Amino acid sequence: MATAKSSRVPPMQTEVLIAGGGPCGLMLAIELGRRGVHCLLVDQKPGTAFNPQANATQARTMEHFRRLGFANQVRAQGLPPEHPTDIAYLTRFAGIELARLRLPTAAQAPQVIKNLSGSWSAAELPHRVSQKFVELVLREQAQAQASADVRYGWQLKEFQDTGSDIEAVVQPLEGGSALSVRASYLVGADGARSFVRSQLGIGWEGSSGTKRHFMGGKMLAVYLRAPGFYARNPNERAWMYVVVNPELRAFIMSVNGQDEFAFHIQMADDAATEALTEADARHLFGRAFGQAMEIEILSMATWLAGHALVAEKFQQGRVLLGGDAVHLFTPTGGLGYNTAVEDAVNLGWKLAHVLQGRAPHTLLESYELERKPLALRNTGYARQFADSIGLFAAAPELEEDSPAGAQARAVASDYLNGHVRREFNIPGVTFGGRYDHSPLIVADGSTPPPDAANSYTASACPGGRPPHAWLADGRSLFDTLHSEWTLLALGSEPPDTKPFELAARALGLDLRVVRHDAPTLATLYEAPLALIRPDQIVAWRGSDAQLALAVLRQVSGQLPPR
Ligand SMILES: Cc1cc2nc3c(=O)[nH]c(=O)nc-3n(C[C@H](O)[C@H](O)[C@H](O)COP(=O)(O)OP(=O)(O)OC[C@H]3O[C@@H](n4cnc5c(N)ncnc54)[C@H](O)[C@@H]3O)c2cc1C
Repeated sequence: MATAKSSRVPPMQTEVLIAGGGPCGLMLAIELGRRGVHCLLVDQKPGTAFNPQANATQARTMEHFRRLGFANQVRAQGLPPEHPTDIAYLTRFAGIELARLRLPTAAQAPQVIKNLSGSWSAAELPHRVSQKFVELVLREQAQAQASADVRYGWQLKEFQDTGSDIEAVVQPLEGGSALSVRASYLVGADGARSFVRSQLGIGWEGSSGTKRHFMGGKMLAVYLRAPGFYARNPNERAWMYVVVNPELRAFIMSVNGQDEFAFHIQMADDAATEALTEADARHLFGRAFGQAMEIEILSMATWLAGHALVAEKFQQGRVLLGGDAVHLFTPTGGLGYNTAVEDAVNLGWKLAHVLQGRAPHTLLESYELERKPLALRNTGYARQFADSIGLFAAAPELEEDSPAGAQARAVASDYLNGHVRREFNIPGVTFGGRYDHSPLIVADGSTPPPDAANSYTASACPGGRPPHAWLADGRSLFDTLHSEWTLLALGSEPPDTKPFELAARALGLDLRVVRHDAPTLATLYEAPLALIRPDQIVAWRGSDAQLALAVLRQVSGQLPPR
């Protein structure tokens, strides 16, 4: 195998080498590319995901896609616009319905969100779409960046951190010569079995192997085509169907709203899952549906539910890690891919600032300080949701046509109607992540709002997402924010913003003052000035613009290391 040292061809130079073209790596390439940072992304797969994988793009992720200008493109993917996105719990897919959460369709979402308030005061609603479709949009966006070189079918084979740069070897898997690469940084966005993390010897912390009736143990995943699914299902159409039954536990999501589905079924602990055949999968699907049905199997694989793992470290020297490489979820709540995207959002502007000389290398230390607590928080929420559904035991008489059966279904309905709202109505999880203990956040003495999964309290207390509002002209407040640093000047007589403009210029920061005189916004932010980071986090708020230089130094990591 070629090594960085032995190759005769001079190494290819780039600023950031990204290993992995899943959601984390692609999003990072977009964040870097739009800032003109050169990056080489390699992924060993021939292309983006074939399997559906994640199925929920949370509202905060959609807000980031909106910030980058492609939320509508993502919302157009997956189900037809008018397809229901409800989540239904049933005794079998075509059995007796026990609970349902009704949610807006993709066509309704942009209008519905304009009329929501409180916990759901936001620019975007979530979107139910398979990750495979999101990845297509992300790849197109990444490839549109002039400074991003995106290569599928290429594997990271080795790397070395010399202290002053990264020397690596990448190789095309379809044949061809290995390529030596010299980069300033390497980002391992290379998934759960991360080669980069394992080479660094970074281990996992947290819990694994949790056993539950459901979402804890061996699972079989089947990507399938079932043209008869809707026609032979007497129940009202949904997007996701969850089987709660004393005999088996399973769920299925519509991939294209027509005939493609992602089916997952819990297997017994002692099941020989490696020996499962397509005939077994057909049989299991028929049992979950309630009757045998013709299906075409597109792929099948087994996976393990019951992880809540976070890596010990997210950085070692010039190597940073993001996404599944540093956090492994049980997919309840749909947080793995979304947390991976937010890692990239957090890291992108910081790498750009360092590489473009706007901040010292030490700024990157804030990545782990900010993202590891979030990974612990989010894996914790996913574990709670998994306990909520997975420890619920279906009564033996649940499907019986008898008074005892009716009574069991009433109990299950009551419980599952509560559960579905706990797991799928999660504005607090998606909007409420905070970086209160980050050295980049200038605390103002106010108390952050409580962290709760199912409710979100908008607050401009530094460290969290800026409160959202729709403006009188119909725009989202977020659409008026600058792509880098924004100083919001609110109310009819905000303080003079000149000190911020001068300090930003002196520090080389791209800051724009955005003025909104509506008194409601000054009230919402509880201050006339609020400084918003490039990743749309409130870094500081107040009224004393004379603090500008000290504030901007701190929030951009230009203070000397402590
Ligand atoms: C059944 C199931 C359902 C899920 N549902 C949800 C959900 O609803 N919501 C949610 O948020 N998450 C969900 N997830 C999790 C989600 O799929 C992952 O969290 C997400 O894919 C992580 O993105 P990533 O970019 O970090 O890693 P990946 O998507 O795993 O991407 C890593 C990439 O690195 C590449 N790679 C690996 N090694 C190398 C190498 N040496 N060189 C080059 N390339 C390499 C791989 O080919 C891969 O493409 C689900 C997962 C499962 C299994």
